[in-house]
Amino acid sequence: MKKIEVINPATEKSIAKVPASVDIPSIYEKARNAQKQWAKQDLQYRIDCISRFQKELENKKDALALTLTQETGKPLWQSLNELRGAGLRIQFFIDNVEKYMQNETITQEEGLLEKIYYEPLGVIGNISAWNYPYLVGVNVFIPALLTGNAVLYKPSEYALLTGLKIESMMQDSGVPKEIFVTIIGDKEEGEKLLDLPLDGYYFTGSHKTGKYIYEKVASKMVPCQLELGGKDAVYVSENNENLAKVVEGVCEGVFYNNGQSCCAVERIYVHTSIYKQFIDLFYEYTKSWVAGDPLDNNTMLGPLTRKEQKKVLQAQLDDALFKGAQAIQLNIKDEPSSYYFPPTILANVSHEMTVMREESFGPIIGIQEVEHLEEAISLMKDTDYGLTSAIYTDEYNEAERLMEEMDTGSVYLNCCDRVSPNLPWAGRKNSGLGLTLSYHGIRSFLQTKAYHIRF
Ligand code: NAD
Repeated sequence: MKKIEVINPATEKSIAKVPASVDIPSIYEKARNAQKQWAKQDLQYRIDCISRFQKELENKKDALALTLTQETGKPLWQSLNELRGAGLRIQFFIDNVEKYMQNETITQEEGLLEKIYYEPLGVIGNISAWNYPYLVGVNVFIPALLTGNAVLYKPSEYALLTGLKIESMMQDSGVPKEIFVTIIGDKEEGEKLLDLPLDGYYFTGSHKTGKYIYEKVASKMVPCQLELGGKDAVYVSENNENLAKVVEGVCEGVFYNNGQSCCAVERIYVHTSIYKQFIDLFYEYTKSWVAGDPLDNNTMLGPLTRKEQKKVLQAQLDDALFKGAQAIQLNIKDEPSSYYFPPTILANVSHEMTVMREESFGPIIGIQEVEHLEEAISLMKDTDYGLTSAIYTDEYNEAERLMEEMDTGSVYLNCCDRVSPNLPWAGRKNSGLGLTLSYHGIRSFLQTKAYHIRF
């Protein structure tokens, strides 16, 4: 029997061996048979199940956070933050689902009624990433379940234990065991989901896998949403009264979750008049991001979740140094395991370097000097990705100019690395297709039916 080993990246110890799911087609058949009944239940019935799930997350948060930290290396306080954030997103969906799945009367006149009905898709596949398993998970499976779909949820092989806990809490909350199923596995089991006649695919992960999945399921003619990577840029203009505060915000955007966020800040452009001052402040503030044991409350940076990512980061660093960048690397004291990568700041960078063009997904950042706003705009647009972009300035006019120009799903003024349940979360270009969150992210799991009624 195939088993997947779970390694704690902070200790390099094996903490579990989890059997991979078998007979996935029969899991699918059961979900297919149960889904119609689930969709027919009163909406309040489904809301009650999801509310109980939300309470389970809250009641068990300490144990759940510990598991998440043990399998991903995320600092414990950040795991708790993630659970809190997931609870808020669930509340958004509970509060809004009725309004946005309700049938609408569009025309009502003599002899004619035109209405839009919203119907669930059926059985959907949710193939997910490890970096925020609760957050990226609830974005998909909560609105999918509330709107009457069944979900085959495949957590990443690096967040399996969390995936199993989510499944068991769903069952304890009254969601039928055929309606929400965790599929344990890696790429191989993911492929098995692609072979099924599912009614929609909702993927969070890398651009490479997302593109492959999109091509593979194209002929099924069903929705396929992709939430992929980014190379998110920030411009810090000369018009900033409080530069130290800006540095704090941007630094957090770079290093939170060890840079392993789809919307982590991965490129910084700074106006030439404050460039040196910015680098100095940034270095000073980065020193407060202490790397260490993720169970320790003082730890800001844990290990990388995947050790292989060190090779990517080292290659970007070597390439940048070879092409003339200057690096400041912070030491990690008594490195607890070989999964750590020192926070690395690169100055004197250019777009000739991979660190400014390819997703890093780790604690490394290039900071480039620019002469003016237009140069910043042009460099920020010079990317295949389109997830988020940000500007820090006290001048609204220049912010407006930059935000209009950006070809990204989200734009930020004086903030970064931020996701809100109220707003759509979408990537453009290589960052993805479709969206989650906001009321649009409820309708992502519904299909419309147009009623033309003559009487
Ligand atoms: P990944 O692409 O390696 O894996 C994602 C999922 O796909 C996993 O569950 C994996 O088992 C599965 N998978 C891999 N190959 C498959 C195949 N051939 N068929 C079917 N399933 C397959 O990504 P990852 O390392 O888990 O996640 C990191 C990436 O996710 C980063 O690029 C990050 O930016 C991105 N991400 C994006 C968002 C967003 O909202 N845009 C959020 C979180 C993470």
